[in-house]
Amino acid sequence: MAEIPLCIGDCEIHWLSGGDFRLDGGAMFGPVPKTIWQNKFPVAVDNTLSLCNDPLLIRTPSLNILVDSGLGNKLTPKQQSVFATTEWILLSQLAHLGISRQDIDLVILTHCDFDHAGGVVMLGEDGREEVTFPDAIHMVQEREWQDVASPCRRAQESYWPINFNELKSNGRIQLVHGGRELCPEVRVRHTGGHTRGHQLVEISSQGETAVHLGDLFPTHAHANPLWVMAYDNFPLEVIACKQRYFAEYRQRDAWFTFYHDPLVRACKLGDKEMITDRWPRL
Ligand SMILES: [Zn+2]
Repeated sequence: MAEIPLCIGDCEIHWLSGGDFRLDGGAMFGPVPKTIWQNKFPVAVDNTLSLCNDPLLIRTPSLNILVDSGLGNKLTPKQQSVFATTEWILLSQLAHLGISRQDIDLVILTHCDFDHAGGVVMLGEDGREEVTFPDAIHMVQEREWQDVASPCRRAQESYWPINFNELKSNGRIQLVHGGRELCPEVRVRHTGGHTRGHQLVEISSQGETAVHLGDLFPTHAHANPLWVMAYDNFPLEVIACKQRYFAEYRQRDAWFTFYHDPLVRACKLGDKEMITDRWPRL
């Protein structure tokens, strides 16, 4: 059964399959003891969690906007055997919606880790790298792009040059400093926290709002602001961001959308971060 898009006023939000992977549960819940987090999220006997990497397609009245791009089709057999569990079928899913890769107007990268930026450059039929969305402007925070250019030792593990080389030479990149309105319904805001240049995406139309906090809020089980990931580069900033944006967007009765959550596409939060409504993944 096809998933029903989440409608925010005049905009539709669809989720596309960017490839599932398995990550260590301890790393996903950082400082939280397993005896506590295992009650909130299903865990396998090897302590891994099954997570998706599902980009959001936002259809506004005038634009097709993709938020992040999944794992892509460039993983080596070894990488696939280590963590990937399903294929990147983003383009065929777009085709189902009647959208070609040339029809994507904007690609917003919340940040440039491989699980978010892996699909912006793909292997074409001839086996060569090509820009996946050749007509799209790719929006990245300036700070994030600086770190892609000269990553620290830790970031070298997640900013893979293979995801950017072709984009740098043949893609259209627009760097954002802070916040920017991309169209009347969609804007980005710099957050930091997970990475230095991480950004959020806000969708608002006809008095309704959704916010995509990217890896600041990876799954519904991370609603407690203190539940940060070992993958967060600046965990104290993540905690501060969650407190700030949860309060701000809760006031607007916003949907909080997810990229990594295999169970829930979006949720609403009430007092004390209680989940008051959820949009399930089918
Ligand atoms: Zn991620």
